Amino acid sequence: MKYISTRQQQETDIKTAILKGLADDGGLFMPEYIPQLDSEFFEDLSNLSLQEIGFRVAKEFLGESISDDNLKEVIDEVLNFEIPAVKISEDIYSLELFHGPTMAFKDVGARFMARMMSYFSGGKPMKVIAATSGDTGSAVASGFFGVQGIEVYILYPKGKVSPLQEKQLTTWGGNIKALEIDGTFDDCQALAKQILSDEELNEKFTLTSANSINIARLIPQSFYYFWAFAQLQKLGRPIVFSVPSGNFGNLTAGLFAKKMGLPIHQFIASTNSNDVVPNYLETGNYESKPSKQTISNAMDVGNPSNFERMKSLFNNDVSEFKKEIESYSFSDEETKDTMIKVKNGFGYTLDPHGAVAYLGLEKYSKKSNEDFVVVLLETAHPAKFVEVVEDVLKEEVTIPEKLEAFNKKEKRFVEFSVDFQQVKQFLMEEKQ
Ligand SMILES: *Cc1c(COP(=O)(O)O)cnc(C)c1O
Repeated sequence: MKYISTRQQQETDIKTAILKGLADDGGLFMPEYIPQLDSEFFEDLSNLSLQEIGFRVAKEFLGESISDDNLKEVIDEVLNFEIPAVKISEDIYSLELFHGPTMAFKDVGARFMARMMSYFSGGKPMKVIAATSGDTGSAVASGFFGVQGIEVYILYPKGKVSPLQEKQLTTWGGNIKALEIDGTFDDCQALAKQILSDEELNEKFTLTSANSINIARLIPQSFYYFWAFAQLQKLGRPIVFSVPSGNFGNLTAGLFAKKMGLPIHQFIASTNSNDVVPNYLETGNYESKPSKQTISNAMDVGNPSNFERMKSLFNNDVSEFKKEIESYSFSDEETKDTMIKVKNGFGYTLDPHGAVAYLGLEKYSKKSNEDFVVVLLETAHPAKFVEVVEDVLKEEVTIPEKLEAFNKKEKRFVEFSVDFQQVKQFLMEEKQ
């Protein structure tokens, strides 16, 4: 399987696509075609474990680049937590993607990427540069923690991540270093780009990025669409997915799963007030906007990076987009009301991102009179957004032991102003 940049100027293999992250022409890597799984696989689906599904799906994308034994080992390590489809009501299930080490769905992608990078780099020293507004950084740190030969540098904006997020970024030690930048997330991202393209740094070190554009984050996110089916097939009803979306990586992985043959009835892409994609589907014009701050902040994205991948899947044709995806945008007020309604009605606590997905499925259900089951992707544990959840539900949220453990550890970070030379000097003094 070859990997081709969405801007068509680079063609390479999976190893290079994963180690580089971004293509040389600035595009994102895509498999040259979406592989098909055979009917036997689908007939057997409900008898397979999450790990078996992960192996079969990953194998299609990785081919002979990794042996079956090595791939099995990677998959078993990555998927060492549950992803249950929890019943909220007769028609609604919550696919809880948050049982990993940092309690957000990004664990799945980050853990797979870390292990594949380590495998393909063959233990040679490498430096991973990651800018984060909060959640990605901790999943990346957790994914790479203790991985041989890899040093991770996380750039995060001072005072702009939640106290718990900060703890999850700064308490690792070992091969994970936290750089606190006295600026915004955009400043962190700009600095990361400068680092990655600096000649001197590239001469001294092997550098790579670990943001959501890496194809190794996308591939494993398709596993759990199959897994949801495996759990719910017995209901014998069409299945709709509602995906709370920011950079649209989660949704794009679902599109991969459908193209591989999984009979997904419909996708609902739910966003907060960052509504670039719903607007595109309505008007046919794609206009990026500066991001707006909301209570579902992991989706505060004004120019979704995976839009370029979706465009290539749909041949840049908005009518093709519309056949697969309904997309709606919701306000913070609606999100809060929904958290209260679902708690009171069903006793289920949604985090703000899951609540946006719930709003999407409600809106879709009102429009459509077909019979279906909706799976909403619950992307974070409510305790990750404890301030918002407690404020909205007026009750205390129990912090799981896994998160509490971070709170007990000591923060360690190096402070910088928004000054590339200062950051560069620090890096130049690091060992290889
Ligand atoms: C990143 C994130 C999202 C958005 O996922 P995308 O793949 O960027 O669309 C949703 N919810 C949570 C909790 C996240 O961390």
